Amino acid sequence: MQPKRVIILGATGSIGRSALDVALSRPDLFRVVGLSARSRAEELREAGRRVHGATLCLTEAGDSDTDIPYRGPGSVGRMLKEIPGDIALNGISGAQGLEPSLQAIEAGMDLALANKETMVLAGRIVLDRAASRGVRVIPVDSEHSAVFQLVERFGSGDLDEVILTASGGAFRDRPLEELRNATPEEASTHPNWKMGRKITIDSASMANKGLEVIEAVRFFGIPPNRVKVFIHPQSRVHALIRMKDGSLYAQISGTDMRLAIQSALVWPRTESCAFGRLDLADLTLTFREPDPARFPLLGLAYRAVEAGEGYTIAYNAANEAAVDLFIRRRVRFTELSVLTEAVLERPWPSRVESPDEVLSVDAEARRAALEAAKGIAQP
Ligand code: NDP
Ligand code: MG
Repeated sequence: MQPKRVIILGATGSIGRSALDVALSRPDLFRVVGLSARSRAEELREAGRRVHGATLCLTEAGDSDTDIPYRGPGSVGRMLKEIPGDIALNGISGAQGLEPSLQAIEAGMDLALANKETMVLAGRIVLDRAASRGVRVIPVDSEHSAVFQLVERFGSGDLDEVILTASGGAFRDRPLEELRNATPEEASTHPNWKMGRKITIDSASMANKGLEVIEAVRFFGIPPNRVKVFIHPQSRVHALIRMKDGSLYAQISGTDMRLAIQSALVWPRTESCAFGRLDLADLTLTFREPDPARFPLLGLAYRAVEAGEGYTIAYNAANEAAVDLFIRRRVRFTELSVLTEAVLERPWPSRVESPDEVLSVDAEARRAALEAAKGIAQP
């Protein structure tokens, strides 16, 4: 079998670097043909040196970056069109990841999707386009990778519930009254996973799990009330499915995204993995329900996905804007949910038909979040 030609988008990030490790661990399976980043040119060149022969792409290039063949606005789309690949791994962070997902599908590549915002913003559009282009979208987010593996093996016919686990993030055991004074630095440390800053803060607020509930609804076409969330502090069970008869099946592995990345890249095959083996001895697994008062952003995500597509775009945009303000110390940690709720109070379309409409709802929701922030006293 020829190695799969892989393009890694967001190659300088946490997911992107893990994807490089996976590719380098199995040169018999993978050949990296393209790498993209936003602005960290030196890190991108370094990634390029690791995989030798890959084309580089930098979307916010500086004057001294003329050695990088694809650069500037629109360069990801051009690279995806011109460099033949079998699969694109999207490890870009935030709503900006949507367009490259659509471009990879358009170019006829399978899409290994870590960028959860793609599904939250436009899950239906993305899956429709993938189906008509004859390509697959395979989740990389660990919980969805787990559900995908389980559902593909057990089938979805007798599926009753999907259960996503959550570590509970940086503040799962901190007294509630102290959350008000939580700093961006404290929110940016994760007990179990090493990830980019935005997703780590989202883990502390559980907006990340909120986004993942929406992602699961869209990916697996299951109603929101059949997607459950449990806090599982050990982060070994990534997700479970419950069948009609009550049985639970779980996917269990370590806290290393490289297994989920490899699973997506080799799908529908299973290959031995250098990063995948978890020792069962002495393993303790505990589960509890999340406290809604501690994690209001989780409840708001259910509200958004019940209300419709425009609301999930607004949920993500409001939270991204709020996290940005929190990092700049303009709002408190406990105000992340206040801002998001204020934005969700507004009317948003229940169906969104095109990527342009997605982007206009996204922009309007960001404006609404900034406006709501003006009404909040400076901390
Ligand atoms: P990071 O912040 O570590 O990395 C983001 C990457 O995307 C960087 O390569 C960055 O380039 C690039 N990038 C950022 N903005 C843009 C843009 N506007 N256009 C093009 N490239 C851009 O993020 P993570 O790796 O943590 O997360 C990536 C995605 O994967 C997120 O959607 C996250 O929710 C999801 N995810 C991450 C997990 C993890 O373990 N980290 C687990 C599950 C899901 P540059 O370095 O130049 O800024
Ligand atoms: Mg996840």
